[in-house]
Amino acid sequence: MKFKTFLLFGAPGSGKGTQGKIMGAIPGFYHCACGDVFRALDLSSPLGKSFLDYSSRGVLVPDDLTISLWSHQIEAMVTTGRFNPATDHLVLDGIPRNVNQARLLADRLDVRRVFHLSCPNREKLVERLKRRALKDNRLDDANEEVIRCRLETYACESKPVLEYYGEDQVLNIDSTQLPHHITRLILQYVDEGVPAFI
Ligand code: ADP
Repeated sequence: MKFKTFLLFGAPGSGKGTQGKIMGAIPGFYHCACGDVFRALDLSSPLGKSFLDYSSRGVLVPDDLTISLWSHQIEAMVTTGRFNPATDHLVLDGIPRNVNQARLLADRLDVRRVFHLSCPNREKLVERLKRRALKDNRLDDANEEVIRCRLETYACESKPVLEYYGEDQVLNIDSTQLPHHITRLILQYVDEGVPAFI
């Protein structure tokens, strides 16, 4: 059975995690942030060290590692009853992050909608990430060069995922709106048809 899925999509700093946490608090939605799955690893284990190596350079972890770790995590959540695919919607944030990952996940995910938190102003994202570095102790946000590399990785590798899913599935949301306005729009369009941009 495929998982009924909503994707939160956007550049680093666009607010995917904020919206994901809010949605995950609603009964019937299970939020899974791929970056959090990586950060929960024992960072002295070979897999944890490998994650640190890639993320501290601002590049993506290889797809085979990412998909296998993600699959284990989701299966564990199903086994322990935290995510019930028969009744719950999966809210994914940070995965798929390139077209190959989208293809590898195609037989597992029934993607109902892609919420694209759009922020064309790169400098705004850089500022948000610098602030987050101080607040959340994120190594990959501590250095401006790494931040810029992550934004470049997003533009080159992740953005084509939007074309993969196509405009019928993608809802472009201006991510500079207040968080609660974005939440309201997402919850509205969980059920409704998709306009081009809101
Ligand atoms: P952000 O919230 O800034 O978008 P994440 O917490 O999602 O960042 O990810 C942090 C880092 O973890 C990424 O820069 C990347 O190195 C790694 N990562 C997270 N998700 C994936 C993924 N789906 N594929 C490959 N690498 C990933």
